[in-house]
Amino acid sequence: TALQLADAALLREDLYVDGAWKAGAGGERAAVVDPATGVEIARVAEGTRADAAAAVAAAQAAFPAWSRRTAKERAALMRRWHDLIVEHADDLARLLTAEQGKPLAEARGEILYGAGFVEWYAEEGKRAYGDVIPTNGAGRRLFAIRQPIGVCAAITPWNFPMAMIARKVAPALGAGCTIVVKPAPATPLSALALAELADRAGIPAGVVNVVTGPAEEVGNELAVNPAVRKLTFTGSTAVGRLLLEQTAPTVKKVSLELGGNAPFIVFDDADLDAAVEGAIASKFRNSGQTCVCANRVLVQAGIHDAFVERFAAATAALKVGNGFDDGVEQGPLIDARALAKVQDHVDDATSKGATAVTGGKPHELGGTWFQPTVLAGVTTEMKIAEEETFGPVAPVFRFETEEQAVALANATESGLAAYLYTRDSGRVWRVGEALEFGVVGVNTGLISYEGAPFGGVKQSGLGREGSRHGLDDFMELKYLCLDGV
Ligand code: ADP
Repeated sequence: TALQLADAALLREDLYVDGAWKAGAGGERAAVVDPATGVEIARVAEGTRADAAAAVAAAQAAFPAWSRRTAKERAALMRRWHDLIVEHADDLARLLTAEQGKPLAEARGEILYGAGFVEWYAEEGKRAYGDVIPTNGAGRRLFAIRQPIGVCAAITPWNFPMAMIARKVAPALGAGCTIVVKPAPATPLSALALAELADRAGIPAGVVNVVTGPAEEVGNELAVNPAVRKLTFTGSTAVGRLLLEQTAPTVKKVSLELGGNAPFIVFDDADLDAAVEGAIASKFRNSGQTCVCANRVLVQAGIHDAFVERFAAATAALKVGNGFDDGVEQGPLIDARALAKVQDHVDDATSKGATAVTGGKPHELGGTWFQPTVLAGVTTEMKIAEEETFGPVAPVFRFETEEQAVALANATESGLAAYLYTRDSGRVWRVGEALEFGVVGVNTGLISYEGAPFGGVKQSGLGREGSRHGLDDFMELKYLCLDGV
């Protein structure tokens, strides 16, 4: 089978709580299925509410000792964890492709990207500086110190089964927090393998815990448990809103990384080849299943036809297949529901006057593959303008002026990533500043980097991940006012 690992012990099927592997309290198991083949690859323990509560208790018990270690001591353990992740990158990539479907090269890229967060925050924890504040009175001395917030919980999605966890666990640990992770039910294996490596790295029991299981039980317990001081979530906007509500009674600090509806704007003065390349990279990564994938391609009238022609040709040339096969660039969608949504968006657009320049139908491979698709003549009346498609479909809108492009781009509740292609440096600043998005890529379709702040505005979320700012989400600022000096 495809799931041959050099280190078979990385395939874990139990919960990791308080440094030990155990079955769920209810004794149930859930199948993990390869979306490319439908073949069952593992049977993972179904955690219960009681398991989630036990993991929170373990994280709470581990917190005092972990938070009191020096940042340098924590960094040494995190560095070891990072090195083990890199050392086992091939196995981790195979697990990821098997449970998620993305091409093996992309999976490997995700593993190294995720490892980057562990390395970054191991170091950044050493720089959690506070302030010495000029005094407001003789005999008084004022300080602000930063302290870890406490027990954290992370709820993560299936589209980046490894990186979304690393991106949350690394800053938590670097800050001195302990954490309980609930991975997406479709993709628990990457999470459990990370826990296995954290264990081997010597990260103490209770510092990192992974509880798989149903959202309504495990996820809900993490949201309502009073011992959890911070919840960090990546997923759909609907579930994000729900979690914000569920965490309100215990006033948790919350970070939300929600849906995007990314505009990809190509101006007349753009480098056409670079814009096509960037659009392909942004739109078709993970078969369109990322929250920063271009969801609306806006092209200025003067370059529109030439762009569409080349973009469609490049799209049609993408190699579709099983992510384990050589050279494959487009894996299957995660499940049948995802496929149905993509088809619905295409049908809605074509019924209202858009044309499929390439693609438009389920792929001949069957399963959950969809043809890489470019739609032209798309307008704001179509569903695809409003909703995130999360699939390999690029809708192209035509615009005339810079003002129109900005208005069109901002006409959404979402505000995660946006992209623009232009060679006019004045326009870079004007449009870059006018876009109501948390991340703007200029003349590039790839913006991810652990050293840069990532996050959304408007209904795309709260908080930032990555960079020195990402540490703030896991820390509290304490003001110390000393009198009688
Ligand atoms: P997607 O549409 O990408 O699957 P979701 O928001 O449904 O995104 O899922 C993201 C994560 O949130 C997953 O780990 C999922 O199990 C979890 N989740 C879904 N519903 C809830 C809920 N009601 N409470 C807590 N977690 C949830």
